[in-house]
Amino acid sequence: MSDMKLVVVGAAGRMGRALIEAIAAVDGTVLSGAVEREGADVIGADAGELAGMGPLGIPVTDDSQVAFAEADGVVDFTAPAVSVRFAELAAAAGIVHVIGTTGMQAAQEEAIQSAAVRTAIIKSGNMSLGVNLLSVLVRQAARALEATDWDIEVLEMHHKHKVDAPSGTALLLGEAAALGRDIALDENSVRVRDGITGPREKGSIGFATLRGGSVVGEHSVILAGEGERIELTHRALDRSIFARGAVKAALWGKGKDPGLYSMLDVLGISED
Ligand code: NAD
Repeated sequence: MSDMKLVVVGAAGRMGRALIEAIAAVDGTVLSGAVEREGADVIGADAGELAGMGPLGIPVTDDSQVAFAEADGVVDFTAPAVSVRFAELAAAAGIVHVIGTTGMQAAQEEAIQSAAVRTAIIKSGNMSLGVNLLSVLVRQAARALEATDWDIEVLEMHHKHKVDAPSGTALLLGEAAALGRDIALDENSVRVRDGITGPREKGSIGFATLRGGSVVGEHSVILAGEGERIELTHRALDRSIFARGAVKAALWGKGKDPGLYSMLDVLGISED
């Protein structure tokens, strides 16, 4: 069977460059296109050289439509509005769309869902095996420990360039805790604390965000009870864990029916 042809959008980004390397490393995939925003100074540069791995003969382009027409899938770690537009284009081209972009608003999530009626989209705030497994453990722990006695806090740290907070992964872990407790995260989360906040509201799920340096991504879900505390932690040491997960997700999505899938589907990890 021929290799799956993949386009990386946001090719010059931190994740874009890691994706170009991952496509070269994962059997069964080949880079067929590299897309950047109009006016980016890397347009025309060789995608392999951009990723620090020697020439691949694929020049970076700003013409996503042409790149998508020749591909089987697109791997997208860019920005919310950009991913929404690419979802439309991928659906029109009938190719798999893997979305790692975080920080989407409700209307943008809805736009992704409507594109998924026409093509297979795999979307996750974290594409690593470790975090997806952690989310299952968090769900189990939240279900097992009574909300009346155990408080849940999600703590995360990322590099200083990150633009959204809490991180997509923190929200994914918060969702897992909310699912375990059978509550809606939106109605029960405390995203910021400042000033005289009063005592902690029972059953709420709190978030705390740290930003600085070059931290790739660290997340802890803390379950705090009277006299004891459980901490479930994941530390990403290298972006390649997200990039390889995303490329494997693209391979998994090949030939799948249209729909919106998660990394739990790809990894075959049961949520229960
Ligand atoms: P980055 O800023 O380094 O890269 C984004 C790239 O997208 C930039 O090169 C930018 O020029 C490009 N871009 C912007 N508009 C474009 C357009 N119209 N067409 C093509 N390219 C365009 O950011 P990053 O650190 O690589 O992160 C990107 C996204 O991925 C963020 O939302 C981040 O939170 C998310 N992320 C997700 C995971 C995960 O596992 N799901 C892991 C890491 C990062």
